[in-house]
Amino acid sequence: MRRVDRKAADLGESGWNAILAPRESQQVLDQDIECDYLVVGAGFAGLSAARRLRQLDAGAGIVILEAQQVASGPAGRNSGFMIDLPHALASGSYAGESSKDLRNIRMNRAAIAFAADNVREFGFPAECFDPCGKINAAACRVGSAHNESYARHLDTIAEPYELLDATAMRDTCGSVYYRGGLFTPGTAVIQPALYIRSLADALVKQKSCQLYENSPLLELARVGERWRASSTSGSVTASRVILAVNGLIETFGFYRRRLMHINLYASMTRELEAWELDELGGAKRWGFTPSDPIGSTLRRIDGSGGTRLVIRNRCTYEAGLSLPEDRLQTIRRDHERTFKARFPKLKQVEMEYCWSGRLCLSRNEVWALGELEDGLFSACCQNGLGTTRGTIAGIVTAEMASASSEQSLVPDYRSEAQPQRLFPEPFMTLGARAVIRLKEWRAGKEL
Ligand SMILES: Cc1cc2nc3c(=O)[nH]c(=O)nc-3n(C[C@H](O)[C@H](O)[C@H](O)COP(=O)(O)OP(=O)(O)OC[C@H]3O[C@@H](n4cnc5c(N)ncnc54)[C@H](O)[C@@H]3O)c2cc1C
Repeated sequence: MRRVDRKAADLGESGWNAILAPRESQQVLDQDIECDYLVVGAGFAGLSAARRLRQLDAGAGIVILEAQQVASGPAGRNSGFMIDLPHALASGSYAGESSKDLRNIRMNRAAIAFAADNVREFGFPAECFDPCGKINAAACRVGSAHNESYARHLDTIAEPYELLDATAMRDTCGSVYYRGGLFTPGTAVIQPALYIRSLADALVKQKSCQLYENSPLLELARVGERWRASSTSGSVTASRVILAVNGLIETFGFYRRRLMHINLYASMTRELEAWELDELGGAKRWGFTPSDPIGSTLRRIDGSGGTRLVIRNRCTYEAGLSLPEDRLQTIRRDHERTFKARFPKLKQVEMEYCWSGRLCLSRNEVWALGELEDGLFSACCQNGLGTTRGTIAGIVTAEMASASSEQSLVPDYRSEAQPQRLFPEPFMTLGARAVIRLKEWRAGKEL
């Protein structure tokens, strides 16, 4: 029997969720039920796994258990860039080895196509998903150098891009902060909370699966040929179980001391008023990722919550998964500074929401994915690019669990080595924090 022994809390309310109309949660699990497949976790990996299972096995009973309300966790807290190109957060640049990059690009595009199919087939609202590309924004000489070397790498793998000068950047975002940018067309930007809510609700409405929210899995036991998963006031017995809980797989006793738990932080402004938009100028919507991977991500959005700006920067390493309660006070100040430096014309605009969220990396940048024990699968450790890589992990694991002979939607997936062991504590935490601080300091104006 495995007990889930730790809880991780994200701080602050995600602006993405808060600006949407309140959603009624699905029921809490309060009885003992049986099914063919149990999926634990309703993020990108879990919902994609459930969706793929339904495609592969039309008659199967599929249950999803989610510890919180859908989209309250990291899946509803991220910046919403479903990026097709290599984007290793932990590296000094985005460029990698060409043949590996090409395979990753094909996999990322398969995930974006899968999300686009969901949007089309279930008729999600348009603001859910916009295949509009993104810009790697550069604010200083170092940032421009990153963009230039990334452009050279894109040349070698024949990927299209456009280099933008300071005027084009100002025309896009209304700020003179940036000296250049590199546009690539293959990214889709999503409203993450809306996409996740829409996918969960569509799966329930289509009777594709039963979803239980606010129903954490607390114990997992092998009973004969099956698995019994117990929550607070009910249980699910299933032939196959997919754990899609990202870094929290460690709380189930798997991959111990092999996963790095990183917290990222984001803020969203209040809705901008009409005169502020006139003052700002620029395009109605845009998305900037940083030219230096440790720098700031920015978006301008104009959906159901009105026009707002969203910032993401700062990251911290938290081996113990939890965060000090007052962490967001410093982060909010940092985000206000970031915002005012870029948009001095909007210095009166305050951040309405500020929040944290977790992601999970492995030292050797591999997934924690595969069959752990007979009938028990992991679709975890997305290494940063979790909207895309979580979707891939869900699809691939569903295909493994169903043992389907159908053609894979991600034919480029290859099984990988295990996540490498971390260095012993306290060296791991000290080292990771020192590296992050050094990279943040070096990022200068890009942060
Ligand atoms: C501020 C921020 C910005 C980011 N920006 C981007 C971005 O622009 N692009 C990108 O690709 N990625 C981004 N990410 C990363 C991305 O959000 C994650 O990698 C992604 O959410 C991982 O998806 P997942 O489905 O594997 O896990 P999660 O989204 O973490 O979902 C796992 C789910 O499992 C549930 N769960 C956990 N334990 C249990 C249990 N015992 N029982 C039942 N349920 C359980 C959790 O409540 C959660 O809902 C960002 C993250 C943050 C925090």
